[in-house]
Amino acid sequence: MRWLVLISCALLTTGCGLRRSDPPVPRSATAQRLVELGLADGRAYELLRELVTAAPHRLSGSAGAARAVEWGKAAMERAGLSNVRLQEVMVPCWERGEVTELMLVEPAPGGPLAVTALGGSVATKDTGLEAALVVVRHESELDKLGPAVAGKIVLFNRPMPRALRNTFAAYGNAVPQRVEGAALAARHGAAGVLVRSMTTLIDDVPHTGGMRYDPAFPAIPAAAVSTQAAERLAALAAKGEVRLRLRLSCRTRPDVLSANVIGEIEGREQPGEIVLIGGHLDCWDVGQGAHDDGAGIIHCLEAARLLVRGGLRPRRTIRVVFFMNEENGLRGAEAYARQHGGEPHAAAIESDHGGFEPKGFTSNAKGGAFDRYKRIVSALAPFEMGALVAGGGGADIQPLGMRGVPLFSLLPAWHRYFDYHHSENDTIDAVNERELQMGAVALAYLAWALAEE
Ligand SMILES: [Zn+2]
Repeated sequence: MRWLVLISCALLTTGCGLRRSDPPVPRSATAQRLVELGLADGRAYELLRELVTAAPHRLSGSAGAARAVEWGKAAMERAGLSNVRLQEVMVPCWERGEVTELMLVEPAPGGPLAVTALGGSVATKDTGLEAALVVVRHESELDKLGPAVAGKIVLFNRPMPRALRNTFAAYGNAVPQRVEGAALAARHGAAGVLVRSMTTLIDDVPHTGGMRYDPAFPAIPAAAVSTQAAERLAALAAKGEVRLRLRLSCRTRPDVLSANVIGEIEGREQPGEIVLIGGHLDCWDVGQGAHDDGAGIIHCLEAARLLVRGGLRPRRTIRVVFFMNEENGLRGAEAYARQHGGEPHAAAIESDHGGFEPKGFTSNAKGGAFDRYKRIVSALAPFEMGALVAGGGGADIQPLGMRGVPLFSLLPAWHRYFDYHHSENDTIDAVNERELQMGAVALAYLAWALAEE
């Protein structure tokens, strides 16, 4: 019987597009088709080059971020998306300024140490902050020292734990000292804060990142030192008094009008139901933000382009969102959730873990739903990217998760991500063309499958 039904459906639909009565396209055939299309006709790397050339620095509120928004809108239109538009949002505007310097004053005056201001830091006075150094690894050590750190520069020197295979878990372990360090040290009267860079490498490249102050205590200058500099300072401090001079000229300007960029592949049957794919368009003002999150933006753009190019228009709408201000505020994510959070989202997928070889996805789904998604993702197993593991989505789609939307995150190989993250190393040379392309293919497949099921 079945073949008869198939033939009659095929006859009914010849030449008049897709209808509800179409036979379902087997998922593995679509995965295969997307892999072939992506590898033979991929544009991911070329698109990434366009982005990092148009706007290598895209920190919220900067001229680079404004150029990235313009590029994003034009790129979505060229990819054949519909309803391309900007969603306006006010974002913070922090600038690093011209001076970033850390000098050893004692034991012997030495050359500059590798340092970068943390995003959101206040400046030192023009002549700099000269003070004695105190080294701690944990908040508990700081609390024990208490008033002994008053007037000093505190270095938080806890490494990302190397024994953890998942580098994102290692980052999660160490990053609170970067985010909260200045607030914790200011509580005991410290004059400044340094943080060991968030990387498992021992090298001389400092990695920046976000931090926040406690409004109940003074805002003190905060910067990250390279892992080599951190180890050198800790070794010197173990022998005797160390004095440093830190100079930063950062400033925070009034909020600036910016935007999320949104475009769609309109669903053929249920256009009101949405599968969201997104990444963040902003990045730090060091390197080119090629992995973080240029790769995520390109994964989404190229996934949508492949689906349009392959004529794969699913039942639900696939909505592509380039979020603004993930790095230092999440204002774009909040604005999206405020305006669109009430619309029915069948799923949301974020790519913000770099452009390395994709292994599959993480998902916050539980029980039977997780098993169903696992079967869907397994169509990518022949291409070694068919894993679905328990995990979160991403910062930009988190507000949708709070409303019960199933969240997914693209899961690339994670060993090298923190070699580049938030540093001058994060440039397009660190991205491999085929690995980036395969991430876009995996994302195209899952977006299509979730919009089709
Ligand atoms: Zn990111």
